[in-house]
Amino acid sequence: MADFQGKSILVLGGSRGIGAAIVRRFAGEGAAVTFTYAGSKEAAERLAAETGATAVVTDSADRDAVIARVRESGPLDVLVVNAGVGAFGDPLEQDPDAVDRLIRINVNAPYHAAVEAARRMPEGGRIIVIGSVNGDRIPFPGLSAYAMSKSALQGMARGLARDFGPRGITVNVVQPGPIDTDLNPADGPMKDIQHAVMAIKRHGRPEDVAGMVAWLAGPEAGFVTGAMHTIDGGFGA
Ligand code: NDP
Repeated sequence: MADFQGKSILVLGGSRGIGAAIVRRFAGEGAAVTFTYAGSKEAAERLAAETGATAVVTDSADRDAVIARVRESGPLDVLVVNAGVGAFGDPLEQDPDAVDRLIRINVNAPYHAAVEAARRMPEGGRIIVIGSVNGDRIPFPGLSAYAMSKSALQGMARGLARDFGPRGITVNVVQPGPIDTDLNPADGPMKDIQHAVMAIKRHGRPEDVAGMVAWLAGPEAGFVTGAMHTIDGGFGA
């Protein structure tokens, strides 16, 4: 287990699911963690009370609010961008506003947050973005907008890794497959179709993803950058 004592960590989108597991992991290892949320005030307050992390409202759809939040958080040792939404369905029927909102949250916010964090990040800083195995593989219809947003993170991480590498800052994407959260419940309607394409036919746990994030943020991963790290039970195999 890495030790994050004294490290300053911001998690964008930490109130529930994978983000909450990441907050618990870092706070449990001594980091000073701040996390954002948009709608889930009660869950955020409960998690803050449980972990000692600081919860703040910031809507990732609001670019300027995201940039301001990162700036106000001071120099960060680790930035994790986890906030993400889905907009699933027939592209011919989808509301274009919903697609554009998804792009603001899933693409624009990670980019601007990463750049703002890098302005004052010290040597050894870590930028970790939660993408999806759907950035690599789209085995069903109805995923186009979501998959597009997660593929965009790949180019972003490769590029920013080059931009910030000379300063010892790493940029990586963690790409989960089906993980048991409100977004994708283990007993939800997509369960059977998802498990059918997996090598390990079950949902993963948010804590599994948090473990990979902690490794990427820790001392063993200083030479790992511009890379995609898939944790998907073989969904993309
Ligand atoms: P959940 O829907 O369970 O949780 C999403 C989290 O992001 C919540 O804390 C939510 O906060 C926050 N969030 C959403 N929109 C905003 C916003 N506009 N501003 C600030 N925070 C926001 O999702 P998961 O935990 O399942 O997903 C987390 C990430 O992992 C996403 O990027 C998702 O795409 C990715 N992922 C998930 C997979 C899965 O199977 N679960 C698979 C592959 C990738 P609040 O409720 O307060 O708004």
